[in-house]
Amino acid sequence: MDLYEYQARDLFGAHGVPVLPGRVVTTSEQARVAAAELGGTVVVKAQVKTGGRGKAGGVQLADTPQEAQRKAAAILGMDIKGHTVHRVLVTPASDIVEEYYLSFILDRTHRTFLAMASVQGGMDIEEVAATAPEALAKVPVDPVAGVDARRAAEIVQAAGFPAEVAQPVADVVRRLWDVFVAEDATLVEVNPLVRDPQGSIIALDGKVTLDDNAGFRHPDHAELADPAGQDPLEARAKARNLNYVKLDGQVGIIGNGAGLVMSTLDVVAYAGQAHGGMKPANFLDIGGGANAQVMADGLDIILGDPDVHAVFVNVFGGITACDQVATGIVQALSILGDAAAKPLVVRLDGNNVAEGRRILARAAHPLVTMVDTMDAAADKAAELAALTFAKGA
Ligand code: GDP
Ligand code: MN
Repeated sequence: MDLYEYQARDLFGAHGVPVLPGRVVTTSEQARVAAAELGGTVVVKAQVKTGGRGKAGGVQLADTPQEAQRKAAAILGMDIKGHTVHRVLVTPASDIVEEYYLSFILDRTHRTFLAMASVQGGMDIEEVAATAPEALAKVPVDPVAGVDARRAAEIVQAAGFPAEVAQPVADVVRRLWDVFVAEDATLVEVNPLVRDPQGSIIALDGKVTLDDNAGFRHPDHAELADPAGQDPLEARAKARNLNYVKLDGQVGIIGNGAGLVMSTLDVVAYAGQAHGGMKPANFLDIGGGANAQVMADGLDIILGDPDVHAVFVNVFGGITACDQVATGIVQALSILGDAAAKPLVVRLDGNNVAEGRRILARAAHPLVTMVDTMDAAADKAAELAALTFAKGA
């Protein structure tokens, strides 16, 4: 789960990372009141879960409450990279001497955690990484040893922070690591971390991604969820306890077991290259007990995705045998009735496969094509998806 900036700043503040006070508001009138209460020059900041708000005009200074109201009115409702602004954060403006960058991420490629730091903060860090990679220090962090004073000093030194801010920045590094560990985050980022004329170090922007798999340890994180900001199909799948992730392709995928579904995604992506670049539209694991209702729920979600042009049901019968799965598919299609209007390619294998295939053959549903191997089935599904995709249907 990605957090809004104001939520990230709240978490930072709770762990001692220096942040400024702020008010989140939804109307320009509330922005005027907030600016008056804060006093002095304020910054009005769009709250959307995407970066580059500054460049898009979503971060603006205001010298008076009236100006804050006007700026808020301009920012509220703005579209930033497809995200509509419904809330703004009003916060005291800082005078900035220097802008730095600081983050911790889960580095999946190297199977470790990684600290990144730069004295060239403020702008797009991807741009720094591309144009001046030497200006972005990357320091691996051992998950057991964590970040102690010495490691923090190493990170600060690797990035070449000026000597006079080395100590306060190292303190922020350690506190940011506390946020990362204590909140079970996979990303914490501060850009910019600024130095003001008084020499204070302040986190002016925050980005946090929480690990949803650790949600059970954090009942308080539930209230950070933003149903309006979630993909509606993912929200529906979650309500039905399905393991569903929306992807950007055209072939809907249903399988049993996470490993089988993962390899199905690979096989479909590969097969799709021969059919105009068709790709998997989702990940959906219906788990071991693939009964009719679970199959119906899964098909309902996938068929309700306007991006899906064909569905590949790939099931390996185990404890739930193929005949039960086949019966589940037939019943699911009758439950869905006219709502099922896209071609289905079904590949069954494993326990009691002969009976499973007989059941599907007997039902002879006009939308269902049975294919015996995974590769051939993926090819068929990609071919069928390409057919209606090309027509722009
Ligand atoms: P982002 O563009 O979405 O990353 O939004 P940021 O919160 O990082 O703001 C973008 C830029 O606006 C920063 O890099 C700063 O240069 C500027 N900015 C943000 N807050 C302040 C502030 O309090 N004072 C000043 N002078 N500039 C600010
Ligand atoms: Mn930023």
